[in-house]
Amino acid sequence: MRTRHQIAVIPGDGIGREVVPAAISVLEAAGRRHGFELAWKEYDWSCERYARTGQMMPEDGLDQLRPSDAIFLGAVGYPGVPDHVSLWGLLLPIRRGFAQYACVRPLKLLPGVTTPLAGRAAKDIDLVVVRENNEGEYSKMGGRIYEGTDDELVIQEAVFTRRGVDRILAYAFELAGRRRGHVTSATKSNGIFHSMPFWDERFALMAARHPGVRTAQYHIDILSAHFVQHPDWFDVVVASNLFGDILSDLGAAIAGSIGVAASGNVNPERTAPSMFEPTHGSAPDIAGKGIANPVAQVWSGAMMLEHLGHPEAARDVERAIEAVLSDPATRTRDLGGRATTREVADALAQALR
Ligand code: ATP
Ligand code: MG
Repeated sequence: MRTRHQIAVIPGDGIGREVVPAAISVLEAAGRRHGFELAWKEYDWSCERYARTGQMMPEDGLDQLRPSDAIFLGAVGYPGVPDHVSLWGLLLPIRRGFAQYACVRPLKLLPGVTTPLAGRAAKDIDLVVVRENNEGEYSKMGGRIYEGTDDELVIQEAVFTRRGVDRILAYAFELAGRRRGHVTSATKSNGIFHSMPFWDERFALMAARHPGVRTAQYHIDILSAHFVQHPDWFDVVVASNLFGDILSDLGAAIAGSIGVAASGNVNPERTAPSMFEPTHGSAPDIAGKGIANPVAQVWSGAMMLEHLGHPEAARDVERAIEAVLSDPATRTRDLGGRATTREVADALAQALR
């Protein structure tokens, strides 16, 4: 019997509605080749829906998503709707409500993509940033007193739990075990007095439990410099919510184009569905023209296939991406080509036949 996976699809806004259908056709081709079926259930949750109804998703949105095996998201964002609406109205409720505590962003220099870096190391960008996605510096704890006076005082707390830190570190070590066996931890223990030394302590314990994985540790400032100068030093890089956020964007910049950057919001224990989405947004400036690069969405889909238990299919999709990008005729405009979203998707599906 063929395996069948139930996928919740949220195309969202703008180019999400173009790259999601394009990616779906590619993932279906992978499914045909590897003997599994993907059953898609689409939801119109978006900023456009918010503009119409005042809500990004219905009250029982999470309950509707819960039975699915994974969530495949395009992008949410709409001119006139502030970013915090999509963040607090859809993205954070899903990431937190479904304990998607690992934000995973693979960064690889793909053919046809030019990196702003020069030199040998630039050719060897192949790393994964693992960002803690549920706690850390992005907290509402704290407050302001003496507001509006010269004595104004503001306190912003960060939250690190032993459970939260251990589980993201464990995820990073296990991922490294399946890759090149190296984990780098980013902290700032000389300046941030409580949380970062705690993170280092838990990192040392986790390292002792994974003798097969080599480790490195840097403060976030020098690590950022190494990211640019020696990206080849890194395999898996694990960091708190804030540091991971910054490294993800820095990493996407050194790996070339936003049009190819993939990500997964992963619940490793599978107590709820994980969500896969490109790093880019809804790109209103090019929406509706059929020229958006579908590769970031397709690559996010490959991560989803791996999560669903089809690592060979995921590798095949990645190989198809490399093959298709190697040919200038099947590159979109952001990569200097002239191909349309559809043409790139068709070439990818063809490569998977
Ligand atoms: P949002 O508000 O949804 O975050 P944004 O405009 O702030 O949208 P992005 O959508 O990430 O941010 O777009 C940043 C730039 O990158 C835009 O010029 C956009 O056209 C370009 N871009 C983003 N994604 C793609 C893609 N898949 N293909 C081609 N260009 C893209
Ligand atoms: Mg944006």
